[in-house]
Amino acid sequence: MRLALKTKIVYSEKCLGYGTWHVEGPQRVKVAYEILKDKGYDFVEPASASEDDLLAVHDGDYLWKLKKGLVEDADTPAYSNIFEYASLSVGGALLASEVNGFSLMRPPGHHVGVFGAALGVPTRGFCYFNNIAIVVKKLGKKTLILDVDGHHGNGTQEVFQGDDRITYLSLHQSPNYPGTGALSDGNCINIALPPDVGGRLYLETLDRALRMVDFGKVETVAVSCGFDTHQGDLASLGLVEHDYWEIGKRVADMKKSVFFVLEGGYVGQNVGLDVDSLLRGYEENM
Ligand SMILES: [Zn+2]
Repeated sequence: MRLALKTKIVYSEKCLGYGTWHVEGPQRVKVAYEILKDKGYDFVEPASASEDDLLAVHDGDYLWKLKKGLVEDADTPAYSNIFEYASLSVGGALLASEVNGFSLMRPPGHHVGVFGAALGVPTRGFCYFNNIAIVVKKLGKKTLILDVDGHHGNGTQEVFQGDDRITYLSLHQSPNYPGTGALSDGNCINIALPPDVGGRLYLETLDRALRMVDFGKVETVAVSCGFDTHQGDLASLGLVEHDYWEIGKRVADMKKSVFFVLEGGYVGQNVGLDVDSLLRGYEENM
């Protein structure tokens, strides 16, 4: 029997309004939303983040240029009104932190830093504002940012590098975009894995990495939740649906307040089923 669902999904269909031709397109979230709706989740609708919120992480000049449509790179287009879409996605992450929920919004965020492109990487990897970094800055708590997207979150690392209140922990595929995160650096624990390592080795590695975290110093946990580690996706580590249940269980085992923010994951069907699996692993072990 399925247990009652507690974790709320933060979602607004407004996030579907751009980029139909792009790999980071609306279908990935729309299909996931429909699956989660069928499974009986409760949804809450976010409001846009304020410019003050955005300025907690990002440079004012970057904001201005983004608003004017002046920031474009090879993988991250200057869509019209992208400033509004990206502000709403930040608002989703903020609401997720308030309700201990899961923000199922786009665009994603972990590749952007203070000035846009981060750590010397030439592009922003489909990201405009660093959703999770803004929330963590705003909360001002000692936080573990667990980044399970298949790509290294170079933007998040750039924002928090050397900040001893924050631990950033990322498992990601290498070699792959953005090419950073080969080694750990101070408060940033980076573990690069070869493509398609599979669930067993992935989870063993995650367990080993989590033992490096001083949980006595962690007040809250923010999960940069990407699903492009799923078998066949852009940064596949060979994970399948049940592996996300195991990740959710590990998050529950931390016994902290938690929120989740969608990053990558480009096959909507997988994203929907994997979100459900992860949240079940989380709720069944809380
Ligand atoms: Zn990714």
